[in-house]
Amino acid sequence: MQYGEFDANSLMYITNRPELVFVRGEGSWLFDAQDKPYLDFIQGWAVNCLGHCPGEIQDALVQQARQLINPSPAFYNGPMIELAGLLTRHSSFDRVFFANTGAEANEGAIKLARKWGRTHKNGAYEIITFDHSFHGRTLATMSASGKAGWDTLFAPQVPGFPKAELNDLESVKALITDKTVAVMLEPVQGEGGVIPATVEFLQGLRELTRAHNVLLITDEVQTGMGRTGRLLGHQHSGIEPDIMTLGKGIGGGVPLAALLAREEVCCFVPGDQGGTYNGNPLMSAVGVAVLRRLLAPGFLDQVTATGNYLAECLNGLVAKHGLVGERGVGLLRALILDDERGPKLVQAALEHAPTGLLLNSPRPNLLRFMPALNVTRGEIDRMITILDHLLVSVPRA
Ligand SMILES: *Cc1c(COP(=O)(O)O)cnc(C)c1O
Repeated sequence: MQYGEFDANSLMYITNRPELVFVRGEGSWLFDAQDKPYLDFIQGWAVNCLGHCPGEIQDALVQQARQLINPSPAFYNGPMIELAGLLTRHSSFDRVFFANTGAEANEGAIKLARKWGRTHKNGAYEIITFDHSFHGRTLATMSASGKAGWDTLFAPQVPGFPKAELNDLESVKALITDKTVAVMLEPVQGEGGVIPATVEFLQGLRELTRAHNVLLITDEVQTGMGRTGRLLGHQHSGIEPDIMTLGKGIGGGVPLAALLAREEVCCFVPGDQGGTYNGNPLMSAVGVAVLRRLLAPGFLDQVTATGNYLAECLNGLVAKHGLVGERGVGLLRALILDDERGPKLVQAALEHAPTGLLLNSPRPNLLRFMPALNVTRGEIDRMITILDHLLVSVPRA
């Protein structure tokens, strides 16, 4: 595809992209080079929690860029201290390490757990993870993920990630040995198809891991930062993990992630962990702006209310079109189809005119919805109207 004097083929081929270029975004809307509007229910994969180009992120970037962009990670800067302070104040964790991506934060969690195993548990290093989980695309996080086919892609894997079944405590118990250092899971499996871990399972897991002196790690890259209607996904179950990772929403669209841990687990010494851009003031200032907005009175209650409304509307489609159902927590939801039309619906939604619609189909039999956390009921109604038409017009597969 040609764009001005340049060819898009200069980009390495890694995925099939539609032949359009987005040039502008505002709230729940994206606009392509022909100025066609698209209602965005992907939001950069649950990343833009305040929608496209929100005022507070623009202001944070401009103000911080004028003042200080990068003094080097070897020095303190104001925004990194402020963001770490806000995160620890509003969670059960004591310490924060900033990273750039969710995968990098998870790598840090894996390293921290293995270091803790070396220093506190006779060299235990195995981390039990789950079938259908997703933890990122680095070699270690791909090995930790339970995605079909990933065990042989880029073999050999990083060893030490036995897989249990989500919501099956016995399957975890069966894998615990004296080599086990941690259990790691997403409170809601996102890429796996929006599959929530039950409250009983999370509470059982916390008891089980405590009893065996095993760490509990929650990967909240997708479920953290208000996505589920609480600031953190695990807060629905009242448990306190030992380690947690954040990504996606924490930067509201810029590369920012975090690794949080309880004091007792923090065993890195100088040289163990770091990174060129980690905790840089430009991204940290955005994190502060995003978090302050999420913590504003009523914001998270509004996410819960909007999530309930979205669920209600999706259930309307289920009843009308004879679909299988709807599931999710807060504004991370999925519509389960009665066939494998997902990818065709995504394509037809993109091409819908005059207003396009951006949807995601992580599995052929379901659609996933991850709108901005401040999406309006009017925008949900418009999405539902378009999807209602498509469920009639797109041939069954
Ligand atoms: C997206 C995601 C990741 C990976 O984050 P990146 O920023 O793409 O590296 C890890 N874990 C979960 C649960 C995710 O949803």
